[in-house]
Amino acid sequence: MISTISKSSEAIALEDHYGAHNYHPLPVVLAKGEGVFLWDVEGKRYYDFLSAYSAVNQGHCHPKIINALIEQAQTLTLTSRAFYNDKLGPAEKYICETFGYDKVLMMNSGAEANETALKLVRKWGYKVKGIAPNQAVILVVEKNFHGRTLAIVSASTDPDSTNDFGPFMPGYQIIPYNDVEALETALKNPNVCGFLVEPIQGEAGVFIPEEGYLAKAQALCTKHHVLLMMDEVQTGIGRTGKMLASDHEGVHPDVLILGKAISGGVLPVSAVLARNEVMLTIKPGEHGSTFGGNPLACAVAVAALEVIKNENLIANAARLGDIFRERMLALKAKTDLITIVRGKGLLNAVVIKPTKDGKTAWDVCVALKENGLLAKPTHGDIIRFAPPLVITEAQIHECCDIIEKTILEF
Ligand code: PLP
Repeated sequence: MISTISKSSEAIALEDHYGAHNYHPLPVVLAKGEGVFLWDVEGKRYYDFLSAYSAVNQGHCHPKIINALIEQAQTLTLTSRAFYNDKLGPAEKYICETFGYDKVLMMNSGAEANETALKLVRKWGYKVKGIAPNQAVILVVEKNFHGRTLAIVSASTDPDSTNDFGPFMPGYQIIPYNDVEALETALKNPNVCGFLVEPIQGEAGVFIPEEGYLAKAQALCTKHHVLLMMDEVQTGIGRTGKMLASDHEGVHPDVLILGKAISGGVLPVSAVLARNEVMLTIKPGEHGSTFGGNPLACAVAVAALEVIKNENLIANAARLGDIFRERMLALKAKTDLITIVRGKGLLNAVVIKPTKDGKTAWDVCVALKENGLLAKPTHGDIIRFAPPLVITEAQIHECCDIIEKTILEF
């Protein structure tokens, strides 16, 4: 049995001593979650405004998802794909019908799903588009975030992702985000097989492209016989007030990449969806993962998607997101500390101007924590606000009051 921790300082000391220092967490040690709330080991309650980077859209420990997990965990957890299992087919059907694709390939992490999509699109480039061997190019954009593996960071423009990790994988061309002309020029290269893009750049700080960018990207990709690969790992599953952020522009990507909230944050599940022409280019033995498509993941993913649909969480995200931004814009008018408010649905960010005495977004997040709300800064000056989609209107107002009080005290 794992030992019990009763003091935050004890847990922090253990992580510091025995864990790799690949994260810089806020100094809070969480021990319990339910719905929009988290509790630390001392019993203090917080509103969760990160939702595990948008993995916990359905709220912490949602009873329907946890019941699906328990029931399946007591029956069958893992068989590998060496054999069929009785949960994978039904889950694949449910996921394909939910998102409107012929086929799905299930993996575990978001990074793995992106790796899968990259392999799949290269394969399509050679087998269907007829690109000469080893010449395939995938277009990506500046400030992208698709995960942490070597193939993925090879496409990154963030020094934290790339410094001292080379040599990198070739076969990418990096173009500016939200730039239709740059895309059109790059698409003229006949070796381009895919354009990988986030509909809203979450990790970069919730950057929203101009309206029409995604639809134009789809039209241009179709024109040039290039696959539009949409990374909806962070933006998908209701987060932005539609099931997918692509839905805001009526875009149906050729390759859809999902992760995080497809399991409600209960265990790592990710998925790549595509039509037959694309998915069937990968043959047995050419790709896979021991845990991908395991019965536990399948049961949990279906339950997690049902919760999104049955509990009206998408409409809730749209409506409460509008209220949240309205309140933040009203707050911005009262303080110099906030320079920008942006977002869609319940994926929002505010940009913080450092104070004269050197206080930054990090200090704001520490103060928010003291006042009972957890959020995390990104890229120094941005705070992302992304609560579970089960939050109520009264709770959103209470949280806006906390944010307002905290900011005005600076
Ligand atoms: N893609 C996007 C858009 C993400 O935001 C993330 C994680 O934040 C990933 C991929 C990577 O997902 P994972 O951390 O599960 O590998």
